[in-house]
Amino acid sequence: MPELVQHWIDGAHTPGVSSRRGDIFQPATGAVARQVALADQSDVDTAVASAVKASADWADSSLSTRARILFSFRQLVDSHRDELAALITAEHGKVLSDAAGEVQRGLEVVEFACGIPHLLKGEHSEQVSRGVDAYSFRQPLGVVAGITPFNFPVMVPMWMFPLAIACGNTFILKPSDRDPSASVRLAELFSEAGLPPGVLNVVQGDAFAVNALLDHPDVAAASFVGSTPIAKHVYARGTAAGKRVQALGGAKNHMVVLPDADLAGAADAAVSAGYGSAGERCMAISVVVAVGDVADELVPAIAERTRELTTGPGTDEASQMGPVVTAAARDRVTSHVDAGVSAGATLVVDGRGYAPEGHGDGFWVAPTLFDHVTPEMSVYTDEIFGPVLVVVRVDTFEDALKLVNTNPYGNGTAIFTADGLAAREYQRRVTVGMVGINVPIPVPMAYYSFGGWKDSLFGDTHVHGAEGVHFYTRAKAITARWPRQAHGVDLGFPTHG
Ligand code: NAD
Repeated sequence: MPELVQHWIDGAHTPGVSSRRGDIFQPATGAVARQVALADQSDVDTAVASAVKASADWADSSLSTRARILFSFRQLVDSHRDELAALITAEHGKVLSDAAGEVQRGLEVVEFACGIPHLLKGEHSEQVSRGVDAYSFRQPLGVVAGITPFNFPVMVPMWMFPLAIACGNTFILKPSDRDPSASVRLAELFSEAGLPPGVLNVVQGDAFAVNALLDHPDVAAASFVGSTPIAKHVYARGTAAGKRVQALGGAKNHMVVLPDADLAGAADAAVSAGYGSAGERCMAISVVVAVGDVADELVPAIAERTRELTTGPGTDEASQMGPVVTAAARDRVTSHVDAGVSAGATLVVDGRGYAPEGHGDGFWVAPTLFDHVTPEMSVYTDEIFGPVLVVVRVDTFEDALKLVNTNPYGNGTAIFTADGLAAREYQRRVTVGMVGINVPIPVPMAYYSFGGWKDSLFGDTHVHGAEGVHFYTRAKAITARWPRQAHGVDLGFPTHG
């Protein structure tokens, strides 16, 4: 029997009541590595009950206590970096150095959350009226759920739970059932750091668990990160149940290259951002928009670098790119490539049918490059979420901007240019949430907020940074007077003076 990845409820592992199980694959070999418990209603109810029970005490805990536990957790994650990276690589497939980078970016959110005493400082206005002061502060929501995708099994949960918990909430994480082991390890480490039982629970499961959390009357809010159709569903269902919801969706990130750009640097950036993590990043570059005649030089430069990449098992130090996550993902990506060929795009580098020696059963697609792609083709319109980079040629900066702004997604974008004015014009007019200037994957630091626009975000609050604190708290405004004598009856609407 394969090992079972269990739930983490009330500070302990539990297989739960449900007997439903999902297979977890090792993407480099195609073998079933483990199984994961898939929650039913009673498992979700048990986790929510645990979070509710822990909620009042945790909301009452002092800011110093919370900060101290977060500092200890930060230390433990730091000292278990390699172990966490290995867990990611085993189930996701990405190369170890990439997995280590993911742990680092998650850790930075914990470091941000360590400053919670400062982040939760309220506002105070003395003497808004004679003898009257006004002040406001923010309080936790109660029980918060987090639903996360497969592609960042450590970083994306850590966008959510450290900050939600720092704000005084209890949290239920529903990680992806494709690579759930790392989330349980994080919960163990947080517990070791001193987090009381029930403050962080991990419920393993699929759509059933997600919907049960969204419908549950004791869950106050939900953070979601995943594909656009599911983000839309989560936003609609969660808000219909009266919850606060932030739902981050899919992406099609464009990198605009102007004729004055450093072309070698732009080619390096396109290859790194297009094929890193096998393109399974919500901030991956999937479209290069070549302006003017830049493509004539840029496409061969990208192709040359693409052909030199080494695709192999994530545990192999020579590998720059690993497999994709499942056989279904591989088949989806290759069928997109087939469709691009049928639609008449020029296939410059073909990654179909590749497998490294001795790993024939793994889920492989090698880096793939298309040129002469047009906006009607499905390789342009669809989020492929694999190692496929497409080049669209346009005549002018205005054409490039129009293309990006017409696209329904608005997660990330980049412009490569030596012209500061063009870059400034782009950053002002582009309808995308995160913009890089000569930076291909502009993932904001933890102390800024992360999020897209348009079909890349449902709800209006981004994750982490100040917006994260805002999402996980609600405001209370106080108006206070301490009179020495009665003021008499006055039926007028209160004014100041
Ligand atoms: P997904 O939408 O399939 O799954 C995300 C989560 O939703 C998982 O926990 C999954 O169990 C759950 N889920 C799946 N189907 C569901 C359903 N029908 N009803 C309710 N819940 C359901 O996404 P994925 O394949 O795990 O991740 C890749 C996607 O995530 C890509 O589209 C990528 O762009 C996106 N993503 C976005 C961001 C961002 O910040 N915007 C970050 C990472 C990933």
